[in-house]
Amino acid sequence: MPEGHVIHRLANRTNELFAAEAVAVSSPQGRFAESAALLDGTTLDRAETWGKHLFVAFDADVPANILQIHLGLIGRLTFAPLAEPVGQVRVRIADDRWAADLHGPQTCRLVTATERDAATARLGEDPLRADADPQRVWTRVHRSSRPIAALLMDQAVFAGVGNIYRAEVLFRQGIDPACPGSELERARFDAIWADLVHLMALGVRDGRIDTVRPEHTPEAMGRPPRVDAHGGEVYVYRRADRPCLVCGRPVHETDLGGRHLFWCPACQRGR
Ligand SMILES: [Zn+2]
Repeated sequence: MPEGHVIHRLANRTNELFAAEAVAVSSPQGRFAESAALLDGTTLDRAETWGKHLFVAFDADVPANILQIHLGLIGRLTFAPLAEPVGQVRVRIADDRWAADLHGPQTCRLVTATERDAATARLGEDPLRADADPQRVWTRVHRSSRPIAALLMDQAVFAGVGNIYRAEVLFRQGIDPACPGSELERARFDAIWADLVHLMALGVRDGRIDTVRPEHTPEAMGRPPRVDAHGGEVYVYRRADRPCLVCGRPVHETDLGGRHLFWCPACQRGR
C-alpha cells in the first residue's frame, strides 16, 4: 500500500493540472457514472490529503461535492496526456490536454464537507500537513500500552505512515520497536515526529523513500546501491539478515500485527 507521501504527490499533481479549472468528470467503467455526472463540467477547487485519503473538492452545486479516494492495496491514480481510457477506469478527471484516471480504488465516493470532517476526525495527525497537531498524537501514544511500532502503523494515531517510514524512523532514532507508548520518553516522541515530518517531505519531493544519512549512502560507504522495487536507500526495511549499515550485525525481521517489522536490536535500545 502506498505511504502518505505518494498520496500527497497525487494531490499536488491534480492541483498542478486541474486546480481552479472547469473539468470533465466521467466514469468510463460506468460504476461511478451517476456521481461523476454531478461533477462534470464544474470547477475543480483543490485536492488535498489526510494520511492515505485524497479529497478532491469541486465547485459543484450539490451538498456532496468532495470526491474522497482511498487507493487501498491495488488502486492507482495515473496522469497522462488525453487519450482513450485503458482498462477499468472508475473515474476520469480531464481537461482538453490531460486525464487523471482512477483504477481499482478501495474507496471512491462523494462526501459533504461535514462528512469529510468526520472522516478526518477519525484519522490521526498527518506529518505532511502543516496543520498537524503532534500534541494530539503524543496524548494517544502516551496513554497506550501498545508497542510504538504498532502505534506508528495505526492510521488513527499517525496518518499516512506505512511500513517503510515506521521501520526507518525507529531505526534512525534508535528506538526499541517493542517499547510501549506509555514508556516512551517525550523527547523520543518529539524526535520521531520531527523525523517523520523531515523524511516524508523528502519523499514528496523525490517520489521515493530515502532514509540513510550522508555518511551511509552507497558512495560514502563504498557499497553497491540497493536494488529493490520499493526504491530508495534505507537502513532496515526489507534488509533482514543483512548487515546493519551502522553496527554490522544482522538486521532482524519479525511479524507485528500481520506486518513485517525490520529492526536492529543492537542499535535500537532507546525507550
Ligand atoms: Zn545496528
